[in-house]
Amino acid sequence: MLRTVSRVVAICDDCGTTASDEDATVLAFADEADAFWVVTSEYGPDGYGAWSLLPGGGLVCHACYARSLCGDSGHDWHVYPCQCAAADQPSGCSELVRVCRRCDTAMTTHRDGGGQR
Ligand SMILES: [Zn+2]
Ligand SMILES: [Zn+2]
Ligand SMILES: [Zn+2]
Repeated sequence: MLRTVSRVVAICDDCGTTASDEDATVLAFADEADAFWVVTSEYGPDGYGAWSLLPGGGLVCHACYARSLCGDSGHDWHVYPCQCAAADQPSGCSELVRVCRRCDTAMTTHRDGGGQR
C-alpha cells in the first residue's frame, strides 16, 4: 500500500542547505531529536563537520558555523609555502599561502591573491 508519513529534514538557517549524507542524498529523520542528534554529531551528517546551534537560536551547517566563528573572532590562519608553481620550479614560487583551518578560506601573498600560476 501507499502511505504518507511525515519525516523531519534539517535545513541550515543561514544558507538554506538541507542536511544530506556523503552521497548528497537528503536525510529524512523520524523525529526532531533524531535529526538533531545526527546533524550535530562529531562529523556531521555528511562527514564534513557538525552542524551547530547558534547562541541566538537557529541551526546552521558546518560551513556557516565556521564562517560565523571567523566573522566574530577572526580566521584561524596557518601559513604554508605556496605550492602553485612547485611542478615547474622545485623551489616553489617563494610566495606564501594562508589557509584558515576553520572555514577553509585561503589567501596567497601573490599580488592577484588567486593562486594562479
Ligand atoms: Zn549553511
Ligand atoms: Zn576562517
Ligand atoms: Zn605561488
